[in-house]
Amino acid sequence: MTITPQPGIMDIALYVSGESRVEGRSDVLKLSSNENPFGCSDAARAAFLRAAQDLHRYPNTDHAALRRAIGQVHGLDEGRIICGVGSDEVLQFICQAYVGVGDEVITTEHGFSMYPILARAVGAVPVTVPERERRVDVDAILGAVTDRTRLVFLANPANPTGTMLPEAELRRLAAGLPSGVLLVHDGAYTEFAGDFDGGAALADDFANVIMTRTFSKIYGLGGLRIGWGYAAREIIDVLNRIRQPFNLSEAQMAAAEAAVRDRAFVARCQAENAKWRDWLRNALTQMGIGCDESYANFVLARFADADQAAACDAALKAEGIIVRRTGGYGLAECLRITVGDEAACRRVVHVIATFMGVR
Ligand SMILES: *Cc1c(COP(=O)(O)O)cnc(C)c1O
Repeated sequence: MTITPQPGIMDIALYVSGESRVEGRSDVLKLSSNENPFGCSDAARAAFLRAAQDLHRYPNTDHAALRRAIGQVHGLDEGRIICGVGSDEVLQFICQAYVGVGDEVITTEHGFSMYPILARAVGAVPVTVPERERRVDVDAILGAVTDRTRLVFLANPANPTGTMLPEAELRRLAAGLPSGVLLVHDGAYTEFAGDFDGGAALADDFANVIMTRTFSKIYGLGGLRIGWGYAAREIIDVLNRIRQPFNLSEAQMAAAEAAVRDRAFVARCQAENAKWRDWLRNALTQMGIGCDESYANFVLARFADADQAAACDAALKAEGIIVRRTGGYGLAECLRITVGDEAACRRVVHVIATFMGVR
């Protein structure tokens, strides 16, 4: 007898996160993980430090104050919200609760790399459907549904493409799926997409839609590890059964609550992101580098080919700038660049322009 892991687990390729270091440089500009260039809200940091007084106490198990704050800010029923250790944990609850060995989970060609990992972790088979020009293709998803399909993962806006499904297409997808197939609408980048509810109305109208959200992006709290999900009460009740009672610390919850209530900080980050995202895209396209309109806090720069993307990445690294290679997403000719503050955007454009020989 040998000790054997469960089916699927040995098929998992480890998640590769954005790099953060360049050998021999202290002035590194990290634009590889879609972090907020402005950090987090001062109120969130203060709440976190206050919570340090009570580290000997177990946290509350129902996350009531945080769910109330999220519910109030977004106009949602707090009884239909679940909080997790990043939205990644909520996605994990969903797979654990609803997907099993041999089931199929649909993801898309350039979809977020956590989705196949989460599917395989429960022994399921990730089924990847093509996109059209880096845009999610609703018909391809609907055409891939079989009687083994349990779940569809969709990040909207998408990572790493930054593209977004129009509301009507999103509705067509939800309406076209069998009622026994879950649609997980990952809204990690919702706040950068302008006037968009992140899929909340969709989760109100369809009993098989779950919206997930995170504190890691616009709130600048990637290190805190908090995300949440919103769905029909029946689904949230199921997910709560497998959630560890103490999955979130008081310090995490207090910081997240302060963050979600600080709307001025969010508004400022939204405005800065929109301004510099447009500027960055414009600068890239003027150099002849392809760049779709982005609805997130990054842009995807499309070079002539994989070699040119690799060479530009090397040129950026030599100047202490780290961006994200996207070969693992089927986009070897691209680099994903987080929208930083003004100085960061100017610095990255300066290096790329020198690389392209257009200055
Ligand atoms: C960053 C990101 C998340 C957020 O994950 P957390 O676990 O909440 O930090 C979720 N989905 C996508 C597509 C992302 O890019």
